Parts: sequence; structure tokens; C-alpha cells
Amino acid sequence: MYFDKAAGISGVSQKTLSHMKAPDCMLKVTFPIEIKDKVEIITGFRVHHSRHMLPVKGGIRFATDVDEQEVTALAALMTYKCAIVDVPFGGAKGGISIDPKNYTDAEVERITRRYTVELCQKSFIGPGTDVPAPDVGTGAREMAWIMDTYRQFHPNEVDSIGCVTGKPIPLGGVRGRNESTGLGVYYGIREFVSYPEVQKHTGLSGDIKDLRIIIQGFGKVGYWAAKFFEQNGAKIIGIGEKECGVYNPNGLNIDKLFNYRRSRGSFLGMPNVDIIEDPLEILELECDVLIPAALERQIGLRNADKIKAKIVGEAANGPTTPLANEVLLMKGILVIPDLLLNAGGVTVSYFEWLKNLSHMRFGRMTKKWDELGKSQIVELVERNVARKLSETEKKQVVHGANETDLVFSGLEDTMISACSETRRTAISKDIDYRTAAFVNAIEKVAAVYEGSGIMFMN
Ligand code: NAD
Repeated sequence: MYFDKAAGISGVSQKTLSHMKAPDCMLKVTFPIEIKDKVEIITGFRVHHSRHMLPVKGGIRFATDVDEQEVTALAALMTYKCAIVDVPFGGAKGGISIDPKNYTDAEVERITRRYTVELCQKSFIGPGTDVPAPDVGTGAREMAWIMDTYRQFHPNEVDSIGCVTGKPIPLGGVRGRNESTGLGVYYGIREFVSYPEVQKHTGLSGDIKDLRIIIQGFGKVGYWAAKFFEQNGAKIIGIGEKECGVYNPNGLNIDKLFNYRRSRGSFLGMPNVDIIEDPLEILELECDVLIPAALERQIGLRNADKIKAKIVGEAANGPTTPLANEVLLMKGILVIPDLLLNAGGVTVSYFEWLKNLSHMRFGRMTKKWDELGKSQIVELVERNVARKLSETEKKQVVHGANETDLVFSGLEDTMISACSETRRTAISKDIDYRTAAFVNAIEKVAAVYEGSGIMFMN
């Protein structure tokens, strides 16, 4: 629905649009795994939505509701997401329909490795063809198993480590990947609230310190988004999790919440906060920015009308149904769409892939050289102004960029550009931000399709 709406507004030909809409190739595999003396048949998928750029990229999800339709939709979202943040990849997604909690670690490892063998045999993985990443139910551990299995099949391939991203740092991961999606969510919302037309529409001042924020989902994305907003002075007044929500109009302490939930497995019983028993209710409380960062379809027709936030920042993939999206827009709520706002993850995955291909940590060749140059400038200035900088001042000025600094800086620049491009299209075509983001993405993908010619069509 979103694609069709934006396609009609874009200047792209129907021929190219129909080519773009259809997924390029789909793999469905079933394989047996022996579990506690019984054979279980496991089903997995990998979909390449658009191979207009290679490699294609997208996460691998382990969840019981993984099916062909969901994987295909998420693969399409990846095509447009990569285009929006100018990551030169096509879109893909994969998944295995299991609940990993029902299996031991050793069983999850066997399933992951067996799935990877299927991907290797069918050429659905490789640093130049398809580079998966973590998604719901998977993390750095699974990515390490995938990389290790791929390497067994390609022992002489010098770039084999770049076959997957989201790896642990000692196995080729990049610093800052864990924080990246949440940090991108922070940068994106910061950009939008700084636009005068957004301030006029919402009555917000544009200062992060004035924002009252509610976040649904306290996982990888929700936690880091909360941390960065807290660090920059915003008040996180509510967090929703699957067992309940916690609320305090004076602001929550993110690390206290994190440590409490980690040690007890739930927010229940947490002191100095109001416990909201119905987890969905947190979405309906008054706040400036509501950030759904848990699952898809959390804002639907049943609750869209009750949302009181001024801005909904979609950190999760597909948290708002298309019909609920219409209700939010009619209520005058600004929606910053998922394909733009949570693109920080794929942006930093791209940085990880580049690091793997270069076989070198970012900043390794430049950090000391930069520090030397800056020290010389500081010495020169000290001599001319006849004042010595304190050691702390000197450290701040001289500090050369390390890998985390460079990754965060690249991410910030990417989010600023992508938000500004979306804003420009929204203003010039008088459309909402989601449609604007799709229009930009469709036009960028179409430029590649049309620019490279369409072989074998006629
Ligand atoms: P995660 O599994 O780390 O966190 C999800 C959190 O949501 C968990 O803490 C879970 O307990 C909670 N949750 C589950 N059901 C809930 C409910 N009904 N109400 C409230 N909370 C609930 O996953 P994640 O990586 O943080 O991903 C969250 C969303 O962001 C997903 O939609 C994912 O596709 C999307 N996303 C993630 C990344 C990434 O880099 N991790 C990148 C882009 C998009």
C-alpha cells in the first residue's frame, strides 16, 4: 500500500515500477534436524527483493510467525531503506520459523549452521552476493556461526569474513554496531524536531531537553534510543515491555531500569515508578514523542485513535498498520517512518562490511597522525598566546578519531542527509514523511534500473 501510494507520486514509469515491486528471487528450504531422538523438519526462507545493487542485505529472523509473505515484505523494506540512506546494497531478508527459546544453545547452533549450508549451496550468501545481519531472535552469536560455516565452504576466499554483519568485535564486527539503530533513531528525531515547520505544527521548542518520551520495547533498539535521549537531556517518562509498562512523569533512570529488569527478568515490583499492567496502554499515554521499538502492528485501528503523542518515531519495522497510519495523519500526528528512522542499523552494517573488505580497523592508519598534527597546532597556539592548555583541554583538542568516533560520525552525517532529503520531498510535494521517504527511495532505485538498461526484456 505504501509503495503504491508513493509510486503514483514518483515520476517513475509503470514498466520500471512493476519490475521493482516484484521480488527478484525467493528461497524456501526445509531440512531435518535430530532433536532429543526425534526428527524435526525446519523451514527457512531467504528472499532477494531487488538485486539492482549487489550484495543484497537484510537480517535473519528466528520467530514462529516467520513465513514467506513476512520475509518478502521485509526484504522489500530493506531495498527502500538502503536507498534512503545511500547504502549501495539491494534488499533481502531471511528467517527460520522457530522459537529459539524452545531449543538449547547447541540445537540453535545446529539449526543456524544447517540453514547456512543451504544458503551456501544455493548462492544465497557471500560478501559480493548476499550479506545477512541479525534481526529479531538472532544476534552476534548466530552471525559468528554463520560466518564460521560460510568459511568452511570458502576456505581460500580472502573476504569471506564480510559474508555477514553484526558479528562480535573479535570476529570482524565493528565498534558502535550495537548502539547504531538506537543512535540513528535519536539523530533522526533530533533532526525532525529541529525543523521550524515541525515546531510550528507540534508546539515543541526543538530543544531535546524539553522532550517527554515514551518507548515501547526495551531491547537492543529501545534501550539504546532511551540511553541517547537520556544522555542528551530528554525525559523518558514511560517504557513498555511485554510483561507491563513503567511510568514516571518526572523521568526514568535508564540504567536502573535495565539492571532491575536484567536481574529480575521483569519490571514488576520496580520501586518509584507506576506499573502499567496492560503493556499496550503505554502507547496511549500523553507524551511528545512515542517510539515503538518492539514489534510490528502495535498501532492498529484498535488504538490509533487513542494515541496522544505529537510525534510517532517508528524504531521497529512496521509498528503501524497502514490504516492506523491514516488515522494518525488525520489526527495531525507526525509519523517518522521506519524505513528512514531505523536505517542506522543497516548504515553501520555497511561500515562493518567495508571494514571487513579493507581488513583494517577504522582509524588505525590515521589516529596517531591526526593527533601529532593537532599537538603541533596546539603547541604553536600556546607559544603565541602565552597560555598553556590544561592536560584535559589538550586531550580534548588533540584526540584523534577512533573506530567508534568515526562510525558515529558517519552515522550522524547519513541520518542528517536522509532526514533532510525526506523533508525536502515532503514539503515540495505536500505529502507525509513516509510517502516522501518511499518516493525518494523509489526514484533512487529506478535510476539504477533505468540507468543500467533492462537487458532481455524485449
Ligand atoms: P530485541 O528482540 O532486542 O528487542 C525487542 C524488545 O521488545 C524485547 O525486549 C521484547 O521483550 C520487547 N517486546 C516484545 N513484545 C512486546 C510487547 N508486546 N510489548 C512491549 N515490548 C515487547 O529486538 P530489536 O533488535 O531491539 O528490534 C526491535 C525492532 O526494531 C524490530 O521490529 C526490528 O525489526 C527493528 N529493527 C532492529 C534493528 C537492529 O539493529 N536491531 C534494525 C532495524 C530495525
